[in-house]
Amino acid sequence: MILERMIGLKFIERLKKRKELYALEIEGVVVEVVRKAIRRVYLRVYPPDGRVRVTVSHRVSDEALREMIQKKMEWIRRHQTRVVRSIILPMSLEDEKRHREELKVQIPQLFEKWQPIMGVKASSWGIKKMKTRWGSCNVRTGKIWINLELARKPHHCLEYIIVHELVHLLEPSHNHRFKAFMDKFLPGWRSHRAELNHLKC
Ligand SMILES: [Zn+2]
Repeated sequence: MILERMIGLKFIERLKKRKELYALEIEGVVVEVVRKAIRRVYLRVYPPDGRVRVTVSHRVSDEALREMIQKKMEWIRRHQTRVVRSIILPMSLEDEKRHREELKVQIPQLFEKWQPIMGVKASSWGIKKMKTRWGSCNVRTGKIWINLELARKPHHCLEYIIVHELVHLLEPSHNHRFKAFMDKFLPGWRSHRAELNHLKC
């Protein structure tokens, strides 16, 4: 359907009839396959919705193609996040003001709740618009930044980011120690992370 928007309908029909255009589902991701007389394999993730298309020679079997794409899954997901990120709905100035006010109430409450439990303390915090991250923590200064966009997510997502950034005061990198802290403090953190579409934090 998305493809039809990109290229002419008649052309699409012709390709489909010749089985030069079809879709494969791989690990829950729909991949459009275009068969062409080419040597290289072209894999692309397109805005605005992160659809995936692979252009490949007729000689590569579907099975081999599947295997090839499976190996690229991490790359695909990373690029999907990057592409889809750019279609975050714009926030009106009015909304922005309201959301900042909401977060200014919620964030201190969460710090007050978690800091005694975790035995750490942020030196200061702030709210800002960020394109690539949900939050950040400067482990040297102890300052934590929270993405304004979290105001439009469920409250548990904000809580997850707060806990995540506070854990950085215990462990700067995302290693096994970091994950062990997350498991201890917030056992459901993995599903919250998935909900947040893999932006960094
Ligand atoms: Zn982090």
